[in-house]
Amino acid sequence: MDSMSFILFGATGDLAKRKIYPALYNLFIEGKLSPSFSVIGLGRRELTDEAFQNSVKQSIHTFSRNTPDHQDTMTAFLNVFRYCVLNVNQIGDYYKLLEVVNQREQELNIVENRMFYLSVSPEFFDVIVLNIKESGLGTTQGWKRLIIEKPFGRDLLSAQELNENLSQAFLEEEIFRIDHFLGKPMVQNLDVIESSNPMLQTLWDNHQISNIQIIADETVGVEERAGYYDQAGALRDMFQNHMLQLLMMIAIQVSNKGVAGDVRANKKAIMESLRPLQEEDIIHNVVLGQYIAGELNGNPVIGYADEQGVSANSRIETFMAARLWIDDYFWNKVPIYIRTGKRLKEKATRIVIEFKETLTESKKNKINSNKILVIDISPNEEVYIQINSNNPQNHVASIPERMNCYSNEKNMPEAYEKLILDALCGDATFFAHWDEVELSWKWVQPILNAIDNNLIPLETYEAGSYGPKGSYQLLEVDGHRWALDAFDVNQNPTTSDKEYSYNG
Ligand code: NAP
Repeated sequence: MDSMSFILFGATGDLAKRKIYPALYNLFIEGKLSPSFSVIGLGRRELTDEAFQNSVKQSIHTFSRNTPDHQDTMTAFLNVFRYCVLNVNQIGDYYKLLEVVNQREQELNIVENRMFYLSVSPEFFDVIVLNIKESGLGTTQGWKRLIIEKPFGRDLLSAQELNENLSQAFLEEEIFRIDHFLGKPMVQNLDVIESSNPMLQTLWDNHQISNIQIIADETVGVEERAGYYDQAGALRDMFQNHMLQLLMMIAIQVSNKGVAGDVRANKKAIMESLRPLQEEDIIHNVVLGQYIAGELNGNPVIGYADEQGVSANSRIETFMAARLWIDDYFWNKVPIYIRTGKRLKEKATRIVIEFKETLTESKKNKINSNKILVIDISPNEEVYIQINSNNPQNHVASIPERMNCYSNEKNMPEAYEKLILDALCGDATFFAHWDEVELSWKWVQPILNAIDNNLIPLETYEAGSYGPKGSYQLLEVDGHRWALDAFDVNQNPTTSDKEYSYNG
């Protein structure tokens, strides 16, 4: 690992406390950082180095998966932290920062490798990178890199403008766009699941796969983020980035995975093959919803419109489902269903691969959604296959059995640990490349336009349900259903007709 300066904009913010400091701490105690590194935290508020170090310490005690055994370890870790007051708009503050960076590089014998992490509102991205360039902070003997957090734009045009500005100061290979879904262990495991299992490889194409379902259901509402969310909605907050990234990761072909350049090229190829939605198709392929009052885990929950900070008569979607098609050799004719929403029945991020039914399989047994491969990404991390087997109670019918293939260990590295480590090593495999971001916005833009023109109905769904009725109809017209909804594998599937009722 190279020696480096880690220059953190937004050092007093929520993300830094909850994710970045714990990630750095865990990398430190596992010996994954260089012995020579410096962290310089930035923000407008006045803080002494000591007060800053104390807040870092507090965040590790509160949020880290490992907490310190020895005071010495914590002291050694905190010693590298310094704080600098900086207003992102004040060029003078960057010159002062440069002095501190230079001084710490000399004190700690650090080669001029500089990681700039922008953990601030995206409206500041442009001004920060231009000031980094202007002040000379970005002129180094070693490497310079930039980590930014989503959202990368609000639409195609703003994303292109942002990228144009970033590229004034950083090359594409120096920009690491974090999509934390890509740091999740199970997402990083996808290529191994496919490439190391010949049994799966033989099934991995449109001859065998009936459909793919990519799901990110949340039970939470907007919490403290109403101001942001009420401008963004599910499409911008989840679909354009996390959901399309998951689609790319599951759809890229096995033999080309493992090398950053190949992964990027293949992800780009998937996005280029994604069938564009024409205006007249959107209504048949996209479902939007907003939650109304309901019940979650036995507790009453208010509707979105009544959440604090949400504008009256908000038309923002808190749920989105869509049907997509990849027009390439492998995935031709395999529908891909994506669903994400807030205040849904269960918290789960997962990918479900449903295999085609055989002729001998009896539809009269009323068994649906069997023969599925489930990749649970979060909060559970496991892979299992659901297959039909003899029902001992009733030999005519068969029941779905779950065969666990893989279940992750506890105390695994968090996504931010993996991603920060990768960025420090210069490995961009699990980051969003500009090509992917731009193609994602290009695909999504007609939907944004349709929303602006009120062309897509906004359905309602009860909090605690699986989403609006339209989301079920989206699959039903193809003869499919959301594979795991209200379908407990331990129950007799013949009862599932009753359970499989709209909850919205
Ligand atoms: P936050 O809690 O509001 O923190 C914002 C930070 O920006 C603070 O440290 C603040 O410090 C600093 N700041 C604000 N205005 C500034 C200015 N003019 N000059 C210098 N510093 C300024 O935000 P956050 O939740 O940490 O989010 C940071 C970024 O991560 C955002 O882009 C967000 O979308 C993204 N993100 C956050 C999360 C999360 O879980 N929080 C998850 C995914 C992505 P001072 O007040 O001291 O100036």
